[in-house]
Amino acid sequence: MDDRLFRNAMGKFATGVTVITTNVNGTIHGMTANAFMSVSLNPKLVVISIGEKASMLEHIKQSGTFTVNILSAQQQELSMLFSGQLKEKREVQFSDLQGAPTIEGALAQISCEVASTYVEGDHTLFIGSVKDIQLEEGEPLLFFNGRYGSLAVETTMQA
Ligand code: FAD
Ligand code: NAD
Repeated sequence: MDDRLFRNAMGKFATGVTVITTNVNGTIHGMTANAFMSVSLNPKLVVISIGEKASMLEHIKQSGTFTVNILSAQQQELSMLFSGQLKEKREVQFSDLQGAPTIEGALAQISCEVASTYVEGDHTLFIGSVKDIQLEEGEPLLFFNGRYGSLAVETTMQA
């Protein structure tokens, strides 16, 4: 099957955008990722999927920890920075959640310890055991059809 057809199909699944951060021996690294999912409530687990060519793969293997930062609509530039879409380098001021590196202004900052690792095809799935969470108000950054977007209207769902 053609790669483009596969990517176009996956791109029909509208997602939020996260930046995964990790601290390796005092150096903080970040990478944009939309392959993120909630896995289990009890215990509290999430999953991220990191490509074999991404340097983040080795960073998380070394640190054994990662933080998922769910970006706000105002943080598209950070998504572009941490996916290599911006040409110039930028200095980023990271914050801290009980020692875990976080991105200030992200709607949710979820710090995790790696609970298990699965190599699947050209990606590695890291199951993260959630240690801490910090929430902020705001609208999400979205990714659909290979493009960034934001919510047109605020929707409310009733249980
Ligand atoms: P690098 O190429 O080393 O870093 C990425 C960029 O972040 C570089 O430009 C670097 O300068 C910058 N950077 C890193 N740390 C810092 C710092 N401390 N301060 C300032 N700048 C810093 N790939 C996946 O594997 N899984 C996904 O789920 C995924 N989802 C994506 C979703 C979207 C919307 C996009 C646009 C891309 C996605 N990617 C995903 C691709 C991934 O973001 C890129 O391939 C990325 O460049 C890989 O980064 P790297 O770990 O190799 O790190
Ligand atoms: P795109 O059309 O490549 O992405 C659309 C969708 O395809 C993504 O949301 C993702 O679900 C899937 N996808 C894309 N590349 C993939 C890969 N290598 N492995 C598994 N799934 C993949 O959108 P774009 O704007 O051209 O993306 C920008 C860059 O970011 C591209 O280089 C793309 O490969 C990369 N990206 C990688 C992943 C990933 O590795 N999971 C996810 C999104 C984007």
